[in-house]
Amino acid sequence: MPAKMTFEQNMEALDRMSPEERDAKIAELTKMCICGACPTYIGTGETVLMFCEIGRSKIIKKGNGCICPGCPVQKSLAQRWNYYCLKGSGKEQAELL
Ligand code: SF4
Ligand code: SF4
Repeated sequence: MPAKMTFEQNMEALDRMSPEERDAKIAELTKMCICGACPTYIGTGETVLMFCEIGRSKIIKKGNGCICPGCPVQKSLAQRWNYYCLKGSGKEQAELL
């Protein structure tokens, strides 16, 4: 996805993909997620990643800094938010859902 596309355009592009293509793209992005190195994540027992796609964590309840602004997924999808684990997915924060 070209970096110049907006988050909303990137979401439309994902929605146009076949389920298989979309799953492959999400899997590729999940590998790039850096939540595992985040002070809000470490020590909580959380194991899932990619809150910008899946929405709030069921385990993380308290913020202690968010490193999403430095994440390659943030840049790749042109996301504009942070604390996805607490505040919800990019789509939720963009009020697309
Ligand atoms: S933007 Fe944040 S939640 Fe999304 S993949 Fe990157 S580190 Fe994970
Ligand atoms: S969404 Fe942000 S605050 Fe939450 S674990 Fe990932 S990097 Fe940390």
